[in-house]
Amino acid sequence: MMPSFRRRPFLRRGRLLSPRRRIARDLPPVARETLRRLKRAHDLLAQDQPAEAAVIFDELAEAGAKRGIPRAPQLYLQAGRAWIEAGEVERGVQRLDTGLDLMDQMQQIRRLPFVSQRILNELTDRGLADHAAVLEDKIQSLLAAHGLSLAAASSTTTKPQLPTKCSYCGGSILPDEVEWFDNQQASCTYCGSLLEAKS
Ligand SMILES: [Zn+2]
Repeated sequence: MMPSFRRRPFLRRGRLLSPRRRIARDLPPVARETLRRLKRAHDLLAQDQPAEAAVIFDELAEAGAKRGIPRAPQLYLQAGRAWIEAGEVERGVQRLDTGLDLMDQMQQIRRLPFVSQRILNELTDRGLADHAAVLEDKIQSLLAAHGLSLAAASSTTTKPQLPTKCSYCGGSILPDEVEWFDNQQASCTYCGSLLEAKS
C-alpha cells in the first residue's frame, strides 16, 4: 500500500504562534457563567452598588480558592474593596488580608509590592490609616520573608500600554499588577483573558 503523504495541517496564515503566545492562549479561561458573574460584579461596582458586587466577588473568590486558581487572590482583594466601599470596613479588611496571604501562598510574591501599595493608598485615602498600618506590617513581613520590600513598588518601570478595562469581565487593568507573558501580552488578573498591549 502506498504510504500516505498527506501533509500535516499547516498553521494557517496569521495563526503562526510563538511558543510564549501559545502558553498564554492555553491558559484556561474562566467558564462562561463565571465570566458573566464577574462582569456583573464589575458592573455593579461601576453603578455604585458595592454591597451587591461584594457578595458576588466573595462567592467567586471562595470557589477560586477551593480550586487553587491563580485569580483567587485578586478576587478576594476585589471583594475587600467592594465591602469597604459598602461601608463594611472590618469585613473588607479581612478579605484584603486573605487575598494577600493567598498571593504569598500561590507564589505571586513578585506582584505583591505593587498590589499592596495600591491597597494601602486606597485605605489611607478613605481615612482608614489605622487599618492601613496593620496591613502594612503584615505585608512587610510577607515580603521580608522573600527578601523583598514595599520600596520595590516605587521604582518605576515603563510598561507597554494595556487597555484600561478588560473587555471580557470589565475589571480595571493596572499594568503593574497583571501577569505579563511577554512585552505585548498579559492576562487579566480577574478572568485570565488575554490582554494585548497597544503597539
Ligand atoms: Zn478580565
